[in-house]
Amino acid sequence: MDLEFCKKIKIFLFLVFFIAITINSNSQNKVTTFADTSRGVLMLVNKSYNLPIDYVPVELIAITETYGDSNKMMHKEAYDAFRKMHDDAKTDGVNIWITSAYRDFKYQNWLYNKSIEENGVVITDKTVAQPGFSEHQTGLAIDIVSARGKKLSKEFEKTKQFEWLSTHGHDYGYILRYPNGKESITGYEYEPWHFRYVGIETAQKIEKLNITLDEYYEQFVNIEVAPDTN
Ligand SMILES: [Zn+2]
Repeated sequence: MDLEFCKKIKIFLFLVFFIAITINSNSQNKVTTFADTSRGVLMLVNKSYNLPIDYVPVELIAITETYGDSNKMMHKEAYDAFRKMHDDAKTDGVNIWITSAYRDFKYQNWLYNKSIEENGVVITDKTVAQPGFSEHQTGLAIDIVSARGKKLSKEFEKTKQFEWLSTHGHDYGYILRYPNGKESITGYEYEPWHFRYVGIETAQKIEKLNITLDEYYEQFVNIEVAPDTN
């Protein structure tokens, strides 16, 4: 056999082997599906369900200066619920402020890569969602601080704001999305500032059952509908 031909065959086989290994390792590390956006405010975006690069919530609305940082947008229904929650909290002498809301794919991509540069991949993957995998892209998630200009911090859990939100948030449709001790289920470190709108009924049920949205979704939302027996 021609030597040159043998060499080509060897290179070809090596490439086939290399591609097979690459595909296999990728599929083992990451099994993801697109989030079911038809679920509306109940949609689940986590490390298993992601959003397409071009997904933009239908009803995005600008947040006014009374409620949070300017130039921010969020889902209209979630915003209406937040305004009511904010005003009632204020009546109780508690000020809450939105510092982060809707983020598009491109911005999340920038945040993720910035975090990798600063903190490395291991820490980043516990704290920052990959683009397409962030709840902020749904427009239903917000990061709350006690006043304009405050930075996100675990110290937030010691504030009266956090106490008020923990007691009343679910009655406005908001849940603490990444609770302490639930890291193995949510895939993220405890974030006392990150709240997610799911609607009042669901939020109250999640609160009562003391479960995460990930668990609620698989137990009550993502289920086969029984066939019609009529
Ligand atoms: Zn957040």
